Amino acid sequence: MNYDSLSVPLTSPISFGTGFASLLGGSAAKNGTSVGVADVSDGPPAYVGIEFRDSCPRLPETGDPVDLSQSNTQRYGQLKTTLTLTSTSCTAYFNSSPSRAVIYDEIAPAVGRQKAFDGPRTRMSRFDAGVYWATATEGDRNILKRAPVRQIFAEDKGVKAAAQGVRFPNGDPASSVYVNTNPLALSLFSPADLLHEALHNVTGDSDSQLAGRLGVTVSRTDTTAISRVLVSNGCAPR
Ligand SMILES: [Zn+2]
Repeated sequence: MNYDSLSVPLTSPISFGTGFASLLGGSAAKNGTSVGVADVSDGPPAYVGIEFRDSCPRLPETGDPVDLSQSNTQRYGQLKTTLTLTSTSCTAYFNSSPSRAVIYDEIAPAVGRQKAFDGPRTRMSRFDAGVYWATATEGDRNILKRAPVRQIFAEDKGVKAAAQGVRFPNGDPASSVYVNTNPLALSLFSPADLLHEALHNVTGDSDSQLAGRLGVTVSRTDTTAISRVLVSNGCAPR
């Protein structure tokens, strides 16, 4: 679901408790709470803080994507080389459906240009980073201007990555992936996950839209069917 404005009543499964101080424009005085929300990418909804007083100290509202460590950048590059997009089974799988066939030729170039960043350390807003779906409303985008990328990983420790789903302002294709650098999450990030994120870069699809394109179903809290179908069709190693 998407919310058009902050006046929409909050309902389950939206949870409170994201630290107010961790939000863009939030107050370090910890006298407020966070409200949401925009549900516009992988992982939990975006939250923004309510502003109570102009005098409260503010956190920075900008920043660049934070690079991965050199060793993690190297490892990410190695994961790319293990993909098997041109295998007979993967080629057949993508060409067996019009909605997949139309993107097949774009996937390898997208993997090639994909660049991974450190999600939990990136303060840049999700709007500036383009980490949302192509179908986001103007209301969603306004919320995302105040929701930092790192909030995605603070709210749900199990999220492995979040992809850029919309083009850069200069028209360049989406190519960024924000990886969860928590050691456990990072150790679980697989070649199929990398491909999953590349498909977001190419399509701007939400998880449920992407799942439909790939012929599987996902739930809000479990999108592993996407990576599984890529493995079972020989596009990525087990
Ligand atoms: Zn996804």
